[in-house]
Formats: sequence, structure tokens, C-alpha cells
Amino acid sequence: MGGMMNSETKMLTKTVKCVVCGKKAAGENNFQLPGCETHLVLPTKIPTCPECDRKMIVKTGRERAFWSCPIFPECFGTRNLLTPDEEKDIL
Ligand SMILES: [Zn+2]
Ligand SMILES: [Zn+2]
Repeated sequence: MGGMMNSETKMLTKTVKCVVCGKKAAGENNFQLPGCETHLVLPTKIPTCPECDRKMIVKTGRERAFWSCPIFPECFGTRNLLTPDEEKDIL
């Protein structure tokens, strides 16, 4: 038996899009959200809100996920979910 698998996982019965970039998802990332190959592993370092410096939380919109300020709607601070490479440039 090789490692080739043709069986679809339950979550991929319809086209699931990466919550970061919108490309076809390859699986679930470490936030249990759909991610493409580039975004299967997202930084676990929690960024702080650009507006109020609170530790941010992951929210899912209709298609995309993003970091949101925990006190939304009092504060509208958001950040994109980043790959570890992108994270180095910003955080
Ligand atoms: Zn992606
Ligand atoms: Zn905030």
C-alpha cells in the first residue's frame, strides 16, 4: 500500500476555500479552518490589536478568517491571518 489517497475528506465534498487567500483549500489549518497549501500552518503567535493593543482573536467571516479585536464592536481593529513568512515582516 502506498500513500496515495483518493478518498475525499468530509469537509471537501464541496469546494472549500482557504480562509486566508480564497484559493481552493487543501485541508484544515491549525485553527481548524480551511486552508490552502500555503496557509495550512498559520502562526500561533497572537498579534495585538493595532488600535488598542489587546490580544486579538480569530474570527470567521463569510469566506475569510481574520484577527479581530476581542472587544469588537467597541474597537474595529483587525489584522489579516498571515503565514509565518509574512509574520516575520510585520510582527
Ligand atoms: Zn491560502
Ligand atoms: Zn482593539
